[in-house]
Amino acid sequence: MNSFDVSDLSPQQIVELIGALNSDGILHALSGSTLKVSDEDSEAVSIAVSVMRRHTQAQNEGVERVRYDIREFHAYETAVLKEKLSALSIDFDITDGILSVPRSRESEVDIVINESEEALDSLEASQHASWEIHSGQRSPSCELCGQTPAAPIDLRRQVGMVVLLKTYRAEMTLCEACAAEAYKQFQKSTAIKGWTGVRSALMNPIVLGTNAVNRNKHRKKLQGGS
Ligand SMILES: [Zn+2]
Repeated sequence: MNSFDVSDLSPQQIVELIGALNSDGILHALSGSTLKVSDEDSEAVSIAVSVMRRHTQAQNEGVERVRYDIREFHAYETAVLKEKLSALSIDFDITDGILSVPRSRESEVDIVINESEEALDSLEASQHASWEIHSGQRSPSCELCGQTPAAPIDLRRQVGMVVLLKTYRAEMTLCEACAAEAYKQFQKSTAIKGWTGVRSALMNPIVLGTNAVNRNKHRKKLQGGS
C-alpha cells in the first residue's frame, strides 16, 4: 500500500480524484486526508495528485494579486503612483495600463491611488489658480445652467464587462445643484453597471469613493469661493 497526503487539495478536487479512481477501477481507501492505494497504482495516482496540487497553487497565485485599471490615469498620476509604490516597497507591475499588486497590500494601494489622484488635483488647482491670476479671469459659470458660483468637478463611472472595462470620466464646471444631480447619476450608474466584470468589481469601490471625494472637494471649492 502507498499513502498520499491530500490535505492541501480542495474538497472539490478530492471528489474529482475519488471519482476518477472509481471510474478507472483503482482500489483505494480515503481516511481523513490520507489516500491509500495499491503499489501498482501509486505512480498513476501520484501524477494525478501532483497535477491537482499544481493547479491549486496556480489558482492561489492568481487570487493573491489585485488588479487596478489605471488606463485613464494622467501621466503625472501614474508617475506619483509609481514613486509611492516604490517608496513603500510594494511589488507592483503595470502592463497595458493594468496595475497588479499583492492582495496583502491592497488597502495600502487604495490609499496610494487616492493620494496620486489628489496630487494631480492639487497640481491642476495650482496651475488653474495661477492661470486665473495671470489672465484676470472671473469665477466661472455652470456649464449646464449658466449660474454662478460654479466650480470644476471630476466624476467617473464604470461599465463592467466580463473581460473589458471602461471608465468614463467627466470633467465639468458646475454649480451646486447641477453637481448634486450629476453626482447622483454617476454614482447610480456605477453602482448598477459596474459590478459585472471581475476587474471592475475590484475597481468599483474606488470609483465610488473617488466620486465622493471629488464631490466633497467641489462643495468646498464653492463654499471657499475659489
Ligand atoms: Zn448649474
